[in-house]
Amino acid sequence: MTSPVWHPFHQHGLGEPIPKVVRTGGSCLWTGDGRRIIDAISSWWVTTHGHRHPRIMAAIAEQTKALDQIIFAGWTHEPAEALARGLTEIMPEPLAHVFYSDSGSTAVEVALKMALGYWRNIGEPRHRIAVMQHSYHGDTIGGMSVGERGVFNQAYAPLLFDVATLPFPVAGSEQATLDALEAECRGPEPLAALIVEPLVLGAGGMLIYPPEILAAMRDICAKHGVLFIADEVMTGWGRTGPLLACEQADIVPDIVCLSKGLTGGAVPLAVTMATKPIFDAHCSTDKATMFFHSSSYTANPIACAAGVANLAIWRDEPVREGIADLCERQAAQIARYRDNPAVHNLRRCGTITAMEIGDPDGAYLSDIGPRLARIFRERDILLRPLGNTVYVMPPYCVSDDELDEIYAAIDAGIAAVTG
Ligand SMILES: *Cc1c(COP(=O)(O)O)cnc(C)c1O
Repeated sequence: MTSPVWHPFHQHGLGEPIPKVVRTGGSCLWTGDGRRIIDAISSWWVTTHGHRHPRIMAAIAEQTKALDQIIFAGWTHEPAEALARGLTEIMPEPLAHVFYSDSGSTAVEVALKMALGYWRNIGEPRHRIAVMQHSYHGDTIGGMSVGERGVFNQAYAPLLFDVATLPFPVAGSEQATLDALEAECRGPEPLAALIVEPLVLGAGGMLIYPPEILAAMRDICAKHGVLFIADEVMTGWGRTGPLLACEQADIVPDIVCLSKGLTGGAVPLAVTMATKPIFDAHCSTDKATMFFHSSSYTANPIACAAGVANLAIWRDEPVREGIADLCERQAAQIARYRDNPAVHNLRRCGTITAMEIGDPDGAYLSDIGPRLARIFRERDILLRPLGNTVYVMPPYCVSDDELDEIYAAIDAGIAAVTG
């Protein structure tokens, strides 16, 4: 019998196998037919400490004894209060207000709406958003509008709103990005906000740019009073080394979007954190200036309890040491490709490594990707190349042996597609 399930980003017409996972733990997934799969991409970038971390699982179980979903408009509960308090303690001080939603895409939608609401409510309406080429901010219409246009969203292009696109800061021509931002800031239609993925553009191909450029963009925005939105949905929670990628540039955004690792990757939850001026612009005795956004499952208590447990893990366990160690182990693993003529643009940012195999600038639909994916699948390694870009973003608990197995699969992939 064929399944009624319609999978995301999956071409059912190709008839590729869809393994059924029955159990997870640490860096691994186990399938119904008894295979152990190493999750080298943290189940699409969500799993930070490892699958089914005992403290997070226990917090979820405990919370179900007291609360399920409750309305969050005008009502509150301790898990949401505790998580918001914890977030304002661990995140940079200016990010004093926490708005809950349930995915990275909604966190981005909320950020964009906050920015536009801010300008409208201070009596200076602005609508134009600046974005970086190759960005990804989610798959909702707003998220796609501020993201890269391409085969992913061609069908919806007529619905996407217009944005100002800055060129990606390619090594050696970074100034072009800054000049473009400066020009947009001085342009005839003032910018409401710039939204960027700090340091690493994930879905765009794990493209990395230096902290100095991030800092310079932040400076330009500050100089012109343009709101700076950091989409840390992927880069947050230690992926690039520190808790936030923005820390590497020593900057604090006006608005930050967090999701994926917020619950350690266990259950869906997102927050958009904002500074006081943005909150204050929505705060008055006039109902017309309130922030008009909610989803049914806003601040789900069980998800918030998982978030609180995640913060406790960050506070009590040697998470930062584990991340620093993984950064070194990743650097050591990729050193072997330095002189490999089939490997291009070898790079690392924190715990993430990436490279192009075969073709230095292959497209997402290049046939090298599927061939690599088949080899990885045969070796029970969960890697999902972006075109011919292979990247490794494992949970922080990945062992040396598991990492060796991941890179052995990549070695085999390189040999197969270039040999
Ligand atoms: C994954 C991602 C999103 C979207 O998050 P979802 O939870 O999948 O909606 C947004 N921005 C970035 C940078 C992401 O990596």
